[in-house]
This record gives sequence, structure tokens and C-alpha cells, in this order.
Amino acid sequence: MTRQGDTRRCSRCGVTKPPTGFYRNPASICKDCHNRASRLTKQIRRAAVAHLIATHQAEYRARVQVERAARVASESGGGLDAA
Ligand SMILES: [Zn+2]
Repeated sequence: MTRQGDTRRCSRCGVTKPPTGFYRNPASICKDCHNRASRLTKQIRRAAVAHLIATHQAEYRARVQVERAARVASESGGGLDAA
């Protein structure tokens, strides 16, 4: 359904590109901007999580043990009704 010669303007970088330069969602910013933004978001989240882990190590380790115990129990807890 895309007409050839159609171009759209990225609302972030302002560059006009063909529809192939955009994802369907989000449709307002181009693939380059979207990829850059999601890479940045990933880096920021990773850094934030690493920082939180570093500053709350005891809580983090305790939580890891709780989560592991819960999973180990459900994996080998023969007869345990998970639902
Ligand atoms: Zn862009």
C-alpha cells in the first residue's frame, strides 16, 4: 500500500526518509533514531541495575536466593500444583 516516492520526516532528527526508513511502530521517528534510543535505554537500564546491585548487595543476594529457591522448588517439587 506504499506509494513510491512517499517520504516521511522523522520527528526527532528531522531527516526526510522513505517509509522503509521507519518502523510501523513508533511511526514518528526513523529506524536510526529508534535504534539509537533503544540502545541508549538499554545501556541506561543496565547501568542503573548494576548500580543498584552494587549499592544493595546484601538485599540483591538474598533476593537471588529466594528466586532460586522458588524455581528449584517448582522444578523438583513433584506433585506440586503450580496453578
Ligand atoms: Zn530520525
